[in-house]
Amino acid sequence: MPAYICKTCGSQYPESAAPPDRCPICQDERQYVGWKGQQWTTLEALRAGHRNEIRAGEPDLFGIGTEPQVAIGQRALLVRSPAGNVLWDCTPLVDGSTVEAIQELGGIRAIAISHPHFYSTMVEWAHAFDAPIYLHVADRQHVVRPDPAISFWDGETKSLGEGITLINAGGHFAGGTVLHWAQGAEGRGALLSADIVNVVRDRRYVSFMYSYPNLIPLPARAIRRIVASLEPFQFERIYGGWWDSITPEGGKEAVGFSAERYIRAIEDNQDS
Ligand SMILES: [Zn+2]
Ligand SMILES: [Zn+2]
Repeated sequence: MPAYICKTCGSQYPESAAPPDRCPICQDERQYVGWKGQQWTTLEALRAGHRNEIRAGEPDLFGIGTEPQVAIGQRALLVRSPAGNVLWDCTPLVDGSTVEAIQELGGIRAIAISHPHFYSTMVEWAHAFDAPIYLHVADRQHVVRPDPAISFWDGETKSLGEGITLINAGGHFAGGTVLHWAQGAEGRGALLSADIVNVVRDRRYVSFMYSYPNLIPLPARAIRRIVASLEPFQFERIYGGWWDSITPEGGKEAVGFSAERYIRAIEDNQDS
C-alpha cells in the first residue's frame, strides 16, 4: 500500500489503500487547498519524475533540494559535524542516489525539523538513515504520520552536541524551531531558520508570519518572544528555508531591527 503525499504541502500520510479524505495541514488556516482540490502523489511517482540536487555551501554545510520543485519547494540542509551529521528540515523526495550521496558525506545521525510544513517524508528519511527525528512537543498534534523514530522534545532549547542547538522560537507554529550552529559562518555562528525567521527578498532583513500564503501576521508578543529566544546565541549568518534565502552577515542585528520594524508596523501608534 502506498503512503500518500499531499501535493500542496508535501506531508506524507501512513500507508493506506486509498488516499486520505483530506490533508489537515493544508486545511489549517496557515496553508491552503489548491484550485484543483486535494491532490495526492506517492514517493514512487516522485522518484520517477524528480531528482535531488545536493549543493555544497560554506564548509560543512550542504543544501538538498528537489528538482523540479515539489510542494512548497524548500531545500533541506545537512550540517556536518565530527560526531555525525544533522539533517535540518526535509524535502519530500528521498531516493537511492540521495541516500548514497549523503552516506558519502558521513550519513545522518539526527534529523531536526523546524515546523509541520517541512515534516514531509521525514519518516522515510529516518528509516533510510536509521536516525531519530527531533520535533518540538508543542506541534505534536500536527504529525500526520506517527512513527517510533519521532522523539518529542520539550522546553526552550535542546542540544544535539557539537555546538548544534535547537531553539523553540515559536511564532509561525507554537513548536516553531530554529537551529543554532556555533561553528557556522567560520565560527561566528549561523542560524538555520526555515520560515520561523524568514529571510526576505531584501536579505538585510527577516520577517515573521503566522501564515505566509494567507498573509496573516503575528502579534507583537510573538515577535518579542522570537527575539528573546535568540538573545543568548551569537550568529552572523541566517539560512532560511529556500536556496536563495540567506542573510550572509549581520544576522543577529537583522533579526533585532526587523523585529522593531515589524512591531512598529502592526502596532497602532504610527502617524500614517
Ligand atoms: Zn497538505
Ligand atoms: Zn511554514
